[in-house]
Amino acid sequence: MINYSKQSINYSDIKAVNRTLKSDFLTQGPRTNEFEQKLKKYTGAKYSIVVNSASSALLVSCMSLGLKKKDIVWTVPNTFVASANCALVSGHKIDFVDIDDNNWNISLEKLKIKLAKAKIKKKLPKAIIIVHLAGLPVDPIELKKLSKKYKFYIIEDASHSIGAKYYGKKVGCCKWSDLCIFSFHPVKIITTGEGGSITTNSKNLYEKMLLFKNNGITKDKKKFQNKNLGPWYYEQQSLGYNFRISDIQASLGINQLRRIDLMVKKRNKIAKKYRNDLKTLPLKFQKIDKVFFSSFHLFIIRLKENNKEIHKKLFIYLRKNNIFVNLHYLPIHLQPFYKKLGFRKGDFPNSERYAENAISIPIYPDLNLTNQNRVIYLIKKFFKKKK
Ligand SMILES: *Cc1c(COP(=O)(O)O)cnc(C)c1O
Repeated sequence: MINYSKQSINYSDIKAVNRTLKSDFLTQGPRTNEFEQKLKKYTGAKYSIVVNSASSALLVSCMSLGLKKKDIVWTVPNTFVASANCALVSGHKIDFVDIDDNNWNISLEKLKIKLAKAKIKKKLPKAIIIVHLAGLPVDPIELKKLSKKYKFYIIEDASHSIGAKYYGKKVGCCKWSDLCIFSFHPVKIITTGEGGSITTNSKNLYEKMLLFKNNGITKDKKKFQNKNLGPWYYEQQSLGYNFRISDIQASLGINQLRRIDLMVKKRNKIAKKYRNDLKTLPLKFQKIDKVFFSSFHLFIIRLKENNKEIHKKLFIYLRKNNIFVNLHYLPIHLQPFYKKLGFRKGDFPNSERYAENAISIPIYPDLNLTNQNRVIYLIKKFFKKKK
């Protein structure tokens, strides 16, 4: 079976984890801190926090902004449900912005129109969570302009895109955003088994997130509100929870980060071959502007002519042939839970049409040429039979 994505684990990863297992600290030791320092250095952001998943990272981010109960957060429908759930779990309202038909990221045109309308209705969002789908960045400069005009925070759900670049800068640098989230789930670019991180340039947000991920507790003497009663003393200063990652996981992350650029390079090489070898078929690929470098977490093919039946047939055909393709994503607003909130079919037509025509085919650093050629051969054969 060839999966749409897969972790890459080598002997040095195993050694790194073993070393931590034999050390004094399985959690709250030096490895978590080291992983945070390395992520900071890699992205160029001022602060970095590692947590136990990207879903947690999204929640911690939402909580840190200090929004009020009824405040509205926007995201896109074609993302993993966590990008929207975080707003609801932290007590806010959610709405969506439809996607662009060419790059399948948030449509900045639609966003502009929706913002102008929301301003009139006094329903402007306080935060927008953008998703760099498949590793392709959303234009951060355009978005930043809008955030200045309409005063909303920008959270980048960069679960797909550690290693990607925009305008020569690494995603995660937060040059044009408030917070940026990565996921270290095994299908993503680098892994810790389960894990996620947040980078930011805001000291204020960083300190709030640090407290929140640690049950609201600080052991930093300089920050105590009461008198320091002794070496045993700590303070809970806000409400929080345990969102920590273990040092076992962090040591895997540190070692994976050492070869991230090589892994992203391999993904790009595979993507280039797909684009070349499949170009004569009735398929479309994500449109990638020159100022962007994708990390290619996913390689998504989309039918040129919308056709639900062919989409389903191709999907089933590939699965039957042990190619474990997938769909990223079912539109969130059509999930039963979100429909109960009042969203309907037809609300975000581009995302809906996209979901009826898109397939994620295998891409990961260890996908060898034989297996990639098999995927290509099967897709070609499918379209030959169609004629
Ligand atoms: C994977 C993913 C998440 C959630 O990541 P976890 O680490 O599994 O919690 C959130 N958003 C997007 C876009 C993702 O792809």
